[in-house]
Amino acid sequence: MTRILVPLFTPHRLRPVHRSNLRFSLFLMFLLALCSSHGWSQSLVIKDVTVIDATGHAAQTNMSVTIEGGHIVGVSPSKKAHIPKNATIVDGTGKFLIPGLWDMHVHGASDTRGPWSHLLFVANGVVGVRDMSGPPDAHAWRATQASNTDPSPTIYLGSPIVDGPDPTWPDSIVVADEAQGREVVDQQQQRGADFIKVYSGLPRNAYFAIADEAKKRGIPFEGHVPDAVSAAEASGAGQKSIEHLTLVAEGCSKEEKTTAAERQRLEASFRAPDAKMPQKIAAGQNIIRLNFHVVETFDEATAQSLFAQFVKNGTWQTPTLTLLQAQIDDPLNTNDPRLKYLSKEVRAKWDAGYYSHFPPPARTAMIQLAKAEFDESKKIVGLMYQAGVPILAGTDTMNPGCFPGFGIHDELALLVEAGLSPLAALQAATRNAAQFVGQLDSRGTIEVGKTADLVLLEKDPLADIHNTRSIQAVVLNGRLFQRAELDAMLAKAQTLASRDDVGASGK
Ligand SMILES: [Zn+2]
Repeated sequence: MTRILVPLFTPHRLRPVHRSNLRFSLFLMFLLALCSSHGWSQSLVIKDVTVIDATGHAAQTNMSVTIEGGHIVGVSPSKKAHIPKNATIVDGTGKFLIPGLWDMHVHGASDTRGPWSHLLFVANGVVGVRDMSGPPDAHAWRATQASNTDPSPTIYLGSPIVDGPDPTWPDSIVVADEAQGREVVDQQQQRGADFIKVYSGLPRNAYFAIADEAKKRGIPFEGHVPDAVSAAEASGAGQKSIEHLTLVAEGCSKEEKTTAAERQRLEASFRAPDAKMPQKIAAGQNIIRLNFHVVETFDEATAQSLFAQFVKNGTWQTPTLTLLQAQIDDPLNTNDPRLKYLSKEVRAKWDAGYYSHFPPPARTAMIQLAKAEFDESKKIVGLMYQAGVPILAGTDTMNPGCFPGFGIHDELALLVEAGLSPLAALQAATRNAAQFVGQLDSRGTIEVGKTADLVLLEKDPLADIHNTRSIQAVVLNGRLFQRAELDAMLAKAQTLASRDDVGASGK
């Protein structure tokens, strides 16, 4: 996953230059070879292109963007642009340039699925991802990536999922009380995680201990709102992002307090290790009923007061509408041509879908519920956007129907369906993402001085957001990949995914 590193030349290695012309020219050739293979030094100019810089400005036509050393060094009207000698020129006539995209909710980027999913990300214009279920030791994992020469996105890396007793996912770190909550924050910060990933089953006291310890130590915590906590409480406790709108609809209901208590009782009954099937079925039916009730008791004034708290506390939302829609579309459309890029193990999980563990009547009810919740979620996203709640684009990639790389384009379209303008949707995957990971000074928009992560589109994404799929070229850290190279990247991903030794570990 490593980005291309600029080699460091120490002065004594430069000395031969003065001693021998032959050695000097060899050195130059070496340098040139490095430049052309890594693309970090030779100038690159995207000429006569329409720039959508994602700062919020309108699109600018007839622009030229100059890139040197992995950075944007010029953004100016083509008439005035200084084109460096020997620059590689990409003709952008009739085309559109946007910043590289970030998928802010993925899985699998830091496990055995990384090698092929990284290629799918880059080939789809995704230059950065937030990994929501990281390895036990982030430092150790990063060290294993140092030898990787394939292009890969920047990874903002979470801790493993931190859940309560009887966790949903087997690889989770289980935290049962306050002391363990504090300990996991300390441990994961020392091991290099960028944030603590909190999950639904965390007990109340453990959750608030995590929040407190994370604040003291200056590491963010991001994830689900646990069932034992309300969305407003999580926002107040400083949770940096809420995923999949967990418990947000509940917080928009007039009856939040009574439904929350009921939910906890039912979840405990459903998850209890000694629960027999009839008990699970009864609890499951009641959870479905309760969730329908939450949708039915939506109240706009209650919702607005919750959104105002999100704005005040700076609580980001990653709605993952792609996931919510995939849960309706189950079973999978087996004709989707993108399925060929998945490993066998991932494909098997996708074929099983979301409901294979449930008896058919429950399955029907759950899909009906998923439909109602998807519609309500889109309504909530539209209202949150109007209210100024900060929004991130994320897919929940590796879950059935959520494609690595391709999925971000699905999410952008769904955000527009929910009421975001095409520009706002683009910003959710570019400017907002950079701001969220603390890199807005160096990434996320097309401005001089920023890292050259760019996507060149054939068609205008502001006219139709589906046009983000019309990718002609990707620039990753200054390195240009034209369409043919992106196709080769897809082909390589397919080859890597079809190898037998790749797994589907984790979520
Ligand atoms: Zn997830």
